[in-house]
This record gives sequence, structure tokens and C-alpha cells, in this order.
Amino acid sequence: MHTFSYARPGTLAEAVALLDAYGPDARLLAGGTDLVIRLRDGTLRPSVVIDLKRIAELRPAIREDAGWLTISATTVMTDVAADARVRRHFPALVEAAAVVGSVQIRNRATLAGNVCNASPAADTAPPLLVYGAEVVAAGPAGTRPIPIAEFFVRSGETTLARGELVAAIELPVPRRRMGAVHLRRTRRRGHDLASVTLCCGVDEAGVTRLAYGSVGPRPVLVVDESGVLADRAAPEAAKTAILERMFADASPSPRSMRASPEYRLAMLRVLGRRALRIAIERLAAGE
Ligand SMILES: Cc1cc2nc3c(=O)[nH]c(=O)nc-3n(C[C@H](O)[C@H](O)[C@H](O)COP(=O)(O)OP(=O)(O)OC[C@H]3O[C@@H](n4cnc5c(N)ncnc54)[C@H](O)[C@@H]3O)c2cc1C
Repeated sequence: MHTFSYARPGTLAEAVALLDAYGPDARLLAGGTDLVIRLRDGTLRPSVVIDLKRIAELRPAIREDAGWLTISATTVMTDVAADARVRRHFPALVEAAAVVGSVQIRNRATLAGNVCNASPAADTAPPLLVYGAEVVAAGPAGTRPIPIAEFFVRSGETTLARGELVAAIELPVPRRRMGAVHLRRTRRRGHDLASVTLCCGVDEAGVTRLAYGSVGPRPVLVVDESGVLADRAAPEAAKTAILERMFADASPSPRSMRASPEYRLAMLRVLGRRALRIAIERLAAGE
């Protein structure tokens, strides 16, 4: 393995200063479930790895305040999926966190790391998009919120600027009742990255939010405010036309070993319809 130095700062200010000084030669370490693999296979060759786990401001925590739920940067998937407030307000995020890898992976993998790794297949990205999450970026100039819909650029690349890291992910507690679900398709049972990962949310005002990943360079959010998708009595042809427009941004890579573009697009349609039906049912059932 390529040699690098290891830094374990105790404060956010120290971490940001290191990150700013080293720029792209620095890599942050949270759970390491993505990073360590890439250090081992040599696709990442940083000169310094900055461990986030001893930073007081980033220690694992989920807080609810003024209509927002804040999930700190070192909070792992297991704790996200188990938290009573996340389960109450964001059930589709719970479903997504609960299918990441295996028990061992979920005990180490952070929500922030899943987002920062910026894989198009990141399972928590679609629910975070549907729920309108914001990423709290901390950098040399202080902190700023980045709407999650503006965060992903392409695989491994985000809109974080030099010297910035993700301090937390914030979710607005939905003001309207919403039914939501996360679904995904993998090649096999057991742990595998998704060929399609998708979340649908339908609220009581008839707005449908659909987000999907693993079918293009970054996860995509599309919104139908017409009320047609949410309306059980609307004609099928009208729903199909809207869904087709919503899937128009899907552009799966022909080079992926996981699934062909044709298969991914077919599964996107199947899962999209299934998720819409489940979300409507859950809204009606008050789940
Ligand atoms: C066997 C296996 C199965 C997996 N299955 C799935 C799956 O089913 N679904 C899925 O979505 N993922 C899966 N993954 C991927 C991985 O577990 C997740 O992406 C995980 O959430 C990453 O979090 P981490 O804390 O381990 O990040 P790390 O590996 O520590 O970091 C990942 C990347 O994000 C950067 N980073 C981390 N934290 C921050 C921060 N706070 N600010 C800025 N940058 C940061 C790091 O520098 C690195 O580039 C799997 C991985 C393995 C090894």
C-alpha cells in the first residue's frame, strides 16, 4: 500500500486547517468502508489521511431542533436506522440505511460518508433527496448549507470546496403528512451495490417526489406537483406520460459490470411504479 501520514485532530478547526493546507492530497476518514478499499487498491493515493472520529464537534449525535433533525458526520447507519425520530419522520431513510452492506458495515459506515463518497449507487441519496435534506459544509470561511440536490456532481465528486468537510446532514421535519418508501434492485441477495436505488414520497397536498440513483453519473430528484401521480383515480396513460418524463434524466453507463443500461432502465420503471403505489398506500394508512 502507498504510504501516507495519518492525522487525528481533536477539533473541527484543526481538521479544516489541515484539509485546506493539503487540498486534494488530503482524504478524510470516517468509517473507512469506502476509503480503505480505495487506499488498498491504489485508486486513491493521498499524502495525508485525516481521521474525523476524535473531533468533538462531529461526535455521533442526532438532534431535533426547530423543525430540523441534525445527524452529525460520524453517526453510523445502525444508529440512523434505530433512532426513534428518524423512524417517525423519515421512514424511507431508515429503509435505505438498513440495507447498506451488512451489520458489520452499518456499524462503521456513516451517513455523511455515504453522501460524500458520491457514488451514484449510494442508497441513502434518494431518500435524502426526497426529504429535502441539506448538507452542512464546514470550511475555512465557516459553515454553509448545501441543498442535497446541489451536492452531487459525479461519482466521487461533490460541490464541497477546498478545505470543506461535511459536519452534519440536516432534514426538515415534514410539515405535511407524507407516505414514502425506499426500494432497490441488486444482482443478488446479500450485500451488493444497487443496480437501481429509488425513493418515492407522496404528500397530502398531492406532490410526488421521486429520486433515483445508479442509473447515471449522480442521483436525480424529480417532482410532480400536478397531483396526477398521487391521484389513484387518474388515468394510467396520464401517469405513464409523467413518469416517462421523470425518468428522462436516467443515463446508465454501458461500461458497468453490474447491469446493462437496458436492464437498469426497465427496473427503474418497475420500481418507480411500485414505489409510487406503496407511497400512496402508506400515506392513506398514515404510516
Ligand atoms: C461490503 C460493502 C458493502 C457496501 N454496501 C453498500 C450498499 O449496499 N449501499 C451503499 O450505499 N453503500 C454500500 N457500501 C459503501 C459504504 O459502506 C458507504 O458508502 C458508507 O456509508 C461510507 O461511509 P464511511 O463512513 O465508511 O466513509 P469513508 O469510507 O470513511 O469515506 C468515504 C468518502 O467520503 C469522504 N468523507 C467521509 N466523511 C466525510 C465528511 N464528513 N466530509 C467530507 N468527506 C467525507 C472520505 O474522504 C471518502 O472519500 C458498501 C461498502 C462495502 C465495503
